[in-house]
Amino acid sequence: MAVDSPLSSPLGPPACEKDAKALQFIEEMTRNAESVQQRVLAEILSRNAQTEYLTRFQLNGATDRETFKSKLPVITYEDLQPEIHRIANGDRSAILTAHPISEFLTSSGTSAGERKLMPTIKEELDRRQLLYSLLMPVMNLYVAGLDKGKGLYFLFVKSETRTPGGLLARPVLTSYYKSDHFKTRPYDPYNVYTSPNEAILCPDSFQSMYTQMLCGLLDRHKVLRLGAVFASGLLRAIRFLQLNWRQLADDMETGSLNSKITDPSLRECIVKTLKPNPELAQFVCHECSKDDWEGIIVRIWPNTKYLDVIVTGAMAQYIPTLDYYSGGLPLACTMYASSECYFGLNLNPMCKPSEVSYTIMPNMAYFEFLPHEPNLDSTGFDFTRELPPKLVDLVDVEVGKEYELVITTYAGLCRYRVGDILRVTGFHNSAPQFHFVRRKNVLLSIDSDKTDEAELQTAVENASHLLCEHNASVVEYTSHADTKTIPGHYVVYWELLVKDSTNSPDNDTLEQCCLAMEESLNSVYRQGRVADNSIGPLEIRVVKNGTFEELMDYAISRGASINQYKVPRCVNFTPIMELLDSRVVSAHFSPALPHWSPERSQ
Ligand code: AMP
Repeated sequence: MAVDSPLSSPLGPPACEKDAKALQFIEEMTRNAESVQQRVLAEILSRNAQTEYLTRFQLNGATDRETFKSKLPVITYEDLQPEIHRIANGDRSAILTAHPISEFLTSSGTSAGERKLMPTIKEELDRRQLLYSLLMPVMNLYVAGLDKGKGLYFLFVKSETRTPGGLLARPVLTSYYKSDHFKTRPYDPYNVYTSPNEAILCPDSFQSMYTQMLCGLLDRHKVLRLGAVFASGLLRAIRFLQLNWRQLADDMETGSLNSKITDPSLRECIVKTLKPNPELAQFVCHECSKDDWEGIIVRIWPNTKYLDVIVTGAMAQYIPTLDYYSGGLPLACTMYASSECYFGLNLNPMCKPSEVSYTIMPNMAYFEFLPHEPNLDSTGFDFTRELPPKLVDLVDVEVGKEYELVITTYAGLCRYRVGDILRVTGFHNSAPQFHFVRRKNVLLSIDSDKTDEAELQTAVENASHLLCEHNASVVEYTSHADTKTIPGHYVVYWELLVKDSTNSPDNDTLEQCCLAMEESLNSVYRQGRVADNSIGPLEIRVVKNGTFEELMDYAISRGASINQYKVPRCVNFTPIMELLDSRVVSAHFSPALPHWSPERSQ
């Protein structure tokens, strides 16, 4: 049997001893995917044997796969609502998990317009950190010398609330950045950030962004990689620089910090490092005052080797803009995770975005896969075969096939449908690798918002009530996530039926319709508009009468069946966009921010 020397790995030569251990761990987990999965399931089921949930399904202490699969149903968030409500309202009994629920993680997926609440337990933080600890050892295989400089990462915390029963509810990254795991992380030369913790942890998004940008500029020659969690976040930082470079340059010129930075610990921390640097101020002014911002990232941060941002899934729409600002730097998508569970990592992070595959780490949870076929309805049930869906285990998925991810976690989710569709691209040892295909039922997304068809329909209906006094109505509509602007915004195309041309809806009314739509959209959308400034005002483009008929003609000319034709509720295909845009008679933007508060409405 071959024995791995500590400084070699089938993945490549590790950069240091610590990396060697991490790579060895990846090898062990992926080689033994099947037995690790079996162990994970047994651990979860035995520790939770007495929970109300497992007792309800009469598992009677069984920890084997067959019994588990035969007795436990595959569920969605909606099925768990009663249990989640009880936990949120203060029931501390062992409902889903034997370990106490430490907090709720608020997912960007919504239910009845509000973020989903995902119960979590303390030890999940260790599991998340374990996955994070594998990322740099993999990256170091592809990019040398990352210990010789720093990473400029725009990382933010978001607002948190408490449930009626007193549990914290906040996004998973906020929970992670505020944890000791992050705050008191040991020094690692491969993972030095330009942003101090005080800047990342400042709850005011302007002050946080301002100081993170300032620190990034002060350290510009040391920056070797630049990133944010999602592509939209990095572009928001570029936009912020466009709007604020003068003030930032003033601070560098004079060595005194802008008075808008009022958070005392943040001020104290930045003031310590800020010294007058007129040369840097002049450089920033020189670069930023140019009309042309192409390649601005490499002009300001000339040693950047890659951008570390997720550009898979809905974020793929930002690739051309990132390429423009970065002069085509490599885009590294390093991991795949969610509030429910962190899933896995990209073992080839410098590959092209279109070739990104994530390797699911078998130690993170127990994974099953629901075959995703066109004849399966939204419940996953194949009515043509009249058989219950057969879920496939991690090591049994087939290359080329698509599946919906189903997880059983240490935090107590059992056979829970995540809603992500993945396609198998290959295997690393016996662990499969997946291309992220899409999230189910998402029509529009700019940042972390996810708007589905039903939400858009309700928004259009609510807004169109305002047309009644003009004796007008919306006869057809479709939508598009416009990411040419930063931040991006939703565009909704409306074809109107105006019965009285002397009283057709005016600009004021249509602007109010935009706002009414925004008020109807889910809380993640409204938070993006109000608190994060990551989504721009919604736009209604009114198109000429007959436009949607032309759209149908076009689809039919390309082979669509006339009987089955349905108006697409979201369009991205360039010829269709061009057709729609050439028929626009007027455009209207939301004139104000919709309502949003961190408190949940239910
Ligand atoms: P949240 O629970 O709000 O953190 O959202 C998690 C969801 O974000 C996942 O279920 C995916 O749909 C999406 N997501 C996370 N990581 C990636 C990735 N690397 N590529 C594409 N989509 C991702």
